[in-house]
Amino acid sequence: MVTDVSKDKTEVGNYFISNYPPFSFWNRESLPSITEAFETPSTSVEPMGLYLHIPFCRKRCKFCYFRVYTDVQAKAIQDYVDTLAHEVAMIAEKPAVQGREFRFVYFGGGTPSFLSERQLLGLVDKLRTSIRWDNADEVTFECEPGTLSQPKLEAIKEIGVTRLSLGVENFDDAVLEENGRAHKSKEIFRAWDWIQETGFKQINIDLIAGMIGETTENWEACIKRTIDLSPDSVTIYQLELPYNTRYSKSLTVLGQEIDVAPWSLKRQWLNYAYDELLANGYEISSAYTLRKKSTNQVKFLYRDNLWHGSDLLCAGVASFGHLSGVHYQNIDGLEEYQAAVAENRLPLNRALVVSPEESLIRQMILQMKLGRLDAGYFRSKFGREIFTDFRQPFEDLVSRELARIDGDKFTLTREGFLRVDSLLPAFFKPEHQGNRYT
Ligand code: SF4
Repeated sequence: MVTDVSKDKTEVGNYFISNYPPFSFWNRESLPSITEAFETPSTSVEPMGLYLHIPFCRKRCKFCYFRVYTDVQAKAIQDYVDTLAHEVAMIAEKPAVQGREFRFVYFGGGTPSFLSERQLLGLVDKLRTSIRWDNADEVTFECEPGTLSQPKLEAIKEIGVTRLSLGVENFDDAVLEENGRAHKSKEIFRAWDWIQETGFKQINIDLIAGMIGETTENWEACIKRTIDLSPDSVTIYQLELPYNTRYSKSLTVLGQEIDVAPWSLKRQWLNYAYDELLANGYEISSAYTLRKKSTNQVKFLYRDNLWHGSDLLCAGVASFGHLSGVHYQNIDGLEEYQAAVAENRLPLNRALVVSPEESLIRQMILQMKLGRLDAGYFRSKFGREIFTDFRQPFEDLVSRELARIDGDKFTLTREGFLRVDSLLPAFFKPEHQGNRYT
């Protein structure tokens, strides 16, 4: 179920909406559709990207709901990296992929920077025997501060990374410790100097509003420290409690009380961050990301392409992709994933054919997170009038002063930005409302 933020209390459930239709509707029966999509030469004019999943972390954060592995030996990591390269080689040979270039690449996780320089350079050498991303407009790499070193950053730069995203989350050691983060503030500052020395086209800092133990005073200090570091962009998520996190299990299974900030307080903290960043030369790029105004080159192409319907091929255990109108996810158990690839099978686990109506809704709700919609885009791409066809939910947003509509332009107000994910299910098809999201 998508979390009802009007209740204010942070309950177990999903707030963040990353895709549509909900993952809980993806199924094994639809697997032949993704197999067929891979085997059919693509006529798509959409850009294509590649997501590479590195599922290892030093420690499991207590709020984490991703498929990650900790305490893994170097040999097992090398086996995984080899499997990943093998999977990409299989993908590259598929008719749907041949002759197309990757416009954007994303190393996500888990913790991609958990890989050693040797593992990383070895992986990329192997990948380069089947694919290239020399012409990619953006290559993003997620980092955990405590896994970085100067030589590793050099290796990350050498493989063509243009956008480095640093998972700071908070600057206070007690908050980091309480939430199970592997790093401390000292490692953030140490890594930051190395990152500056190495030099990347774009550097993003990730923060989370509402980590357990957060206070207004500490949050304000976090934002000031972030501004002092002066990254190209700052991404801020509000802490949620999806199923399968340690915190959610403490609440639901063990019946323990956890002092989680209510949604109204998290919005207040996010609002403060917006104000401070806007006053210090940043502008809003989406409900989560503020970017520096000055350079005008600060983009996030992975996000923008995905939210405009691009194809995204994925590789790695439990990773998510989209090809020729079909959503898909890889097998989500490490051994089973590796066994499938060893047998030269694409490790597909579940899929969903996205209808034109669902594709329109998907792009509309995802682009709404940018804070703006252009009805003309949907008119020319889908032949639909979104403000007429979705009159009720749009009118509701305007009457609640969460958005404005002026001609073809829809814009979120500040209040709309702060709670945007909670506004999106109203645009879902009826059968997708009120169901579990993941
Ligand atoms: S570092 Fe990221 S992926 Fe790893 S456990 Fe923490 S939240 Fe999850």
